[in-house]
Amino acid sequence: MADKRDYYEVLGVGKNASDDEIKKAHRKLAKKYHPDLNKDNPEAAEKFKELNEAYEVLSDKEKKAKYDQFGFAGVDPNYGGGGGFGGFGGFDMGDLGDIFGSFFGGGSTRSRRNAPQRGETLQQRVMLSFEEAAFGCEKEITIGRVETCEECGGSGAAPGTSADTCSTCRGTGTVTQTQRTPLGMFQTQSACPNCRGTGKIIKTPCKKCGGKGKVRNSRTLKVKIPAGIDDGQSIQLRGQGGAGSNGGPAGDVIVTIGIRPHPLFTREGSDVLCEIPISFTQAALGVTLQVPTIDGKIEYQVPEGTQTGTVFRMRGKGIQNVNGRGRGDQFVRVNIEVPRNLSQKQKELLREFEDSSNANHTARQGFWEKVKNAFK
Ligand SMILES: [Zn+2]
Ligand SMILES: [Zn+2]
Repeated sequence: MADKRDYYEVLGVGKNASDDEIKKAHRKLAKKYHPDLNKDNPEAAEKFKELNEAYEVLSDKEKKAKYDQFGFAGVDPNYGGGGGFGGFGGFDMGDLGDIFGSFFGGGSTRSRRNAPQRGETLQQRVMLSFEEAAFGCEKEITIGRVETCEECGGSGAAPGTSADTCSTCRGTGTVTQTQRTPLGMFQTQSACPNCRGTGKIIKTPCKKCGGKGKVRNSRTLKVKIPAGIDDGQSIQLRGQGGAGSNGGPAGDVIVTIGIRPHPLFTREGSDVLCEIPISFTQAALGVTLQVPTIDGKIEYQVPEGTQTGTVFRMRGKGIQNVNGRGRGDQFVRVNIEVPRNLSQKQKELLREFEDSSNANHTARQGFWEKVKNAFK
């Protein structure tokens, strides 16, 4: 399959050849290589077969487009599949949709059953508290995974016995059928029916795994979670997944992190955000706040005359950067609460305050100045 020639090359035409040119080229070469006219030349039969295969694709608009785009993989279901065909005996292009589906789905059904195969990769989700994610922690997860049977060491044969090499396929797991047709000989390969593609025959199966060589176990694994990990990120535990087959490597375990919400903090990357309500008077006069941070409470001086929505930055009080050194910042937004349900006395005091303080409200003054000018 590796030395398969480009279809255009087979027909001896350029990539931009018209339908007519392709037709003519095929007719000319078909005459030249027709098996009936070349009885003493086995090579001609091969050429004739190759020619017909190329023509079948290039004379069909849809197949030609797929070939132009994807090469042989676009039109040949067996291409790259390992086993392969020697001719167009299996060259059924009736349903290209299916062929495409399995090709792009990465279907490995065509690969030999006794070829090394990587074990299953397992997914697990772990929920962390805000602090666990910020500071890192160790968690235990329990997974069910396929492991090599300890009893038989994976051979599937009962201890003291061993598996025999399949006599039908001589251990290859595949059988080859050769067919003679008017167009020449060609071969097809399929999984060995005697050993079902494994290449081995087990006479006395291991009792523990029933001859499969593998068992399913439940395992608890420790996962080290680095400080600063964020929601949706994942940790890969290499080789902790399912056992491989026929000497293939084990799969991985992928642990995906979820972070539970915190009552005070929200997170943006390695920065921590929090909102603190302060009173109208505190904002006007200034106040020393006990600001909660992930390290505990820290005193912070809110200056007098602070407006609602002002955000203060506390450098280095955020979360450790998961990929390196350094910490993010904490951002504190102060929201001013307008007093409600005032007593008669409080209302009077505020009116008095209002009358005496108009000159201090520069923003408001500026606004009404503008209104006055706009409606002159
Ligand atoms: Zn076993
Ligand atoms: Zn066999």
